[in-house]
Amino acid sequence: MKNRKRTTEEYIILSISGASALCIAPFFFIRVFYAEWPIALLNLFAVLSTSLLFAYVYRTGKINFARWSLTVLFIGIVIGTISLKGAQQIVWLYPAVIGIFFLLNPQQSLIIATAIVGLVGVFLWDQLNYILIVQYIFSTLITLLFSYTFADRMFRQQILLKELSVKDPLTGAGNRRAMEEKLLEVTEQCSAEKNQNTSLILIDLDEFKRINDQYGHSVGDNILRDFTDAVSQKLTTDDHLYRFGGEEFVVISHKRNQENTSILAEQLRESIDQHSFEQNLHITISLGIAEYKSDETGFEWLGRADKAMYKAKEAGRNLCCIAA
Ligand code: GH3
Ligand code: MG
Ligand code: MG
Repeated sequence: MKNRKRTTEEYIILSISGASALCIAPFFFIRVFYAEWPIALLNLFAVLSTSLLFAYVYRTGKINFARWSLTVLFIGIVIGTISLKGAQQIVWLYPAVIGIFFLLNPQQSLIIATAIVGLVGVFLWDQLNYILIVQYIFSTLITLLFSYTFADRMFRQQILLKELSVKDPLTGAGNRRAMEEKLLEVTEQCSAEKNQNTSLILIDLDEFKRINDQYGHSVGDNILRDFTDAVSQKLTTDDHLYRFGGEEFVVISHKRNQENTSILAEQLRESIDQHSFEQNLHITISLGIAEYKSDETGFEWLGRADKAMYKAKEAGRNLCCIAA
């Protein structure tokens, strides 16, 4: 846990559980002071359970159990407090509904929050006069609508940002940041499992500067896009394509030993050699293949593939070369 960066979701759950414990705690003392024991006990239970969930997420970083437990707790506390003290406690329904929208996805939140609002409404029907019922219906509807709109917008933006942060904008392949993350994940996994059936291929487009010089940068850009599509078609879900930089790409292949990866590399070389690019241009690629060796870093692994790729360049280009 020490060196791990906390995710936004963790911070949200820590804030909500921490704030709930701190906000409910004073009410426990007030209820004890007035000797209102049932509601004091309910408050004590709420403070203890939200504090425990805070500690659990703080220590483990696991959020799924905590997010559902907090949702169930919020529902239980609101229904418990309203059944003990009546309609005046309805004010707690609103922060509970908003809290649920922070904990679950927008659709789940809308369904669960609408169900609680309905349940509380039915429960309080006899205690409220006509005006209060209308107020309850409209105030809860507005709260649900605002919360859902806001949560849905945030949810969509989060998905978009996540996508933008890992994708190369020109080609749609994974970007360098995503590649570095994958290398770290794969090297950790391979070292832990002593599983060496993972390989990478470093691909460099041959004499690409000449294409730019002769046909212009935008033709070069289109070729990079077309190249990415052509390579992607040959890959399985266990092969991941990244743009390392410029006209260099990396394929990280889970579950492929050196032999299988060499077959894939040769298929890629051949398909690009036979592919007709914009303006009938003929492009070739040079590839370096390296199987993961236990205990090497991602950087060392990539370095071996790079050396192999340069060997392919020196040997005349349009070739695959296996790393030492
Ligand atoms: P080699 O066969 O030795 O790899 O030759 P090369 O010309 O491919 O290699 P070099 O490193 O000299 O040139 C790479 C070229 O790739 C230079 C640069 O203009 C081009 N390039 C890099 N990124 C992009 C890009 O995003 N779009 C376009 N159009 N060209 C790019
Ligand atoms: Mg290059
Ligand atoms: Mg090149």
